[in-house]
Amino acid sequence: MLIGVPAETVPGEKRVATVPAVVEKLVKLGFSVAVQSGAGDAANFADDTYRAAGAEVVPDAATLWSRADIVFKVRPPSPQEVGLMREGGMLVGFVWPAQNPELMQQLAARKATVLAIDALPRQLSRAQKMDALTSMAGITGYRAVIEAANAFGRFFNGQVTAAGKVPPAKVFIAGAGVAGLAAVGTAANLGAIVRANDTRAEVADQVKSLGGEFVKVDYEEEGSGGGGYAKVMSEGFQQAQRAMYAQQAKDADIIITTALIPGKPAPKLITADMVKTMQPGSVIVDMAAEQGGNCELTVPGQAVVRHGVTIVGYTDLASRLAKQSSTLYSTNLLRLAEELCKAKDGVVNVNMDDDAIRGLTVIKDGAITWPAPPPKLP
Ligand code: NAD
Repeated sequence: MLIGVPAETVPGEKRVATVPAVVEKLVKLGFSVAVQSGAGDAANFADDTYRAAGAEVVPDAATLWSRADIVFKVRPPSPQEVGLMREGGMLVGFVWPAQNPELMQQLAARKATVLAIDALPRQLSRAQKMDALTSMAGITGYRAVIEAANAFGRFFNGQVTAAGKVPPAKVFIAGAGVAGLAAVGTAANLGAIVRANDTRAEVADQVKSLGGEFVKVDYEEEGSGGGGYAKVMSEGFQQAQRAMYAQQAKDADIIITTALIPGKPAPKLITADMVKTMQPGSVIVDMAAEQGGNCELTVPGQAVVRHGVTIVGYTDLASRLAKQSSTLYSTNLLRLAEELCKAKDGVVNVNMDDDAIRGLTVIKDGAITWPAPPPKLP
């Protein structure tokens, strides 16, 4: 079967779904691979490196989509791209079926089979090698700290210099899931004093092991909802949390927010009043910007200055590290391809009896199969 890799079309998206090193491995699995000319340019993978790895380079998107049996993509396809797709073809990539009902209908009308990498049952340990949400979150957490350091006018680490003593920066991280923990580790490695909070108290040890201090909200309430994810907390908890965050905001030089609740708008944790209490030159990086933001003053996609504080609301943090994110993402897709093609004969078998494959198959031969029943845990 022919796997096609188009250039991403969302403006500013620099990632590519397959890198040359993964092309070689797909060829070993028996697949042919076609890449749209220039698809890897923004991630520093030139056409020639794809050719050297065994891919065919095709000139345009229309040729690519019409010939491919399976399309590997990063972002959900646009209506135009769905229009180019071969009837009965297969699509693998981020789809976000809950947020994109029209796209689901368009893909179903093409009689497509669609594997949404964002619908992978992450709680299955054997699914971890395919978990692109975790790979991307690790990168965005790292990049959030780099963006913060870039916007901050001081060192992260404390220094004693001939010109005077410099205190370490204080970083507060709201939400310590995959991205938040990556931010804790990165900021601690740069030498900052790092504190973090999450409604799921079980992450406290992980924060500590990465060099941070876990700060508790003074209110007893279990924060875990279904599948290890967060839930909306009671009004009482939220009040106590706001009081604690107000204290942290006064003290912190940098706040990085990552708090998300599946299927809900991002919780507003940093109010405009809290921003006013921060020192001029402080920085907030709001990683929840795309889902409405954790800070009241965030402008999605932009860095703005409010009350002397730089508030970074970039929604393309993974794309800003395009070579790294493309490499990890395409390795996640390779692991999926290995699961789909156990015979290594270049033919995929979408086994709906396999919990991991069932979970991410959101459309099968034109029939919408999302949401999947919960997987059976061992
Ligand atoms: P996410 O991006 O949905 O949320 C980010 C973090 O925000 C979470 O840790 C959440 O608890 C926190 N949060 C939500 N509301 C908050 C609030 N009001 N205040 C403070 N924090 C708040 O989550 P994610 O990083 O994709 O994953 C969350 C968790 O899911 C992981 O940390 C892990 O425990 C679990 N997970 C499990 C597996 C697995 O079992 N293999 C794989 C991936 C993730």
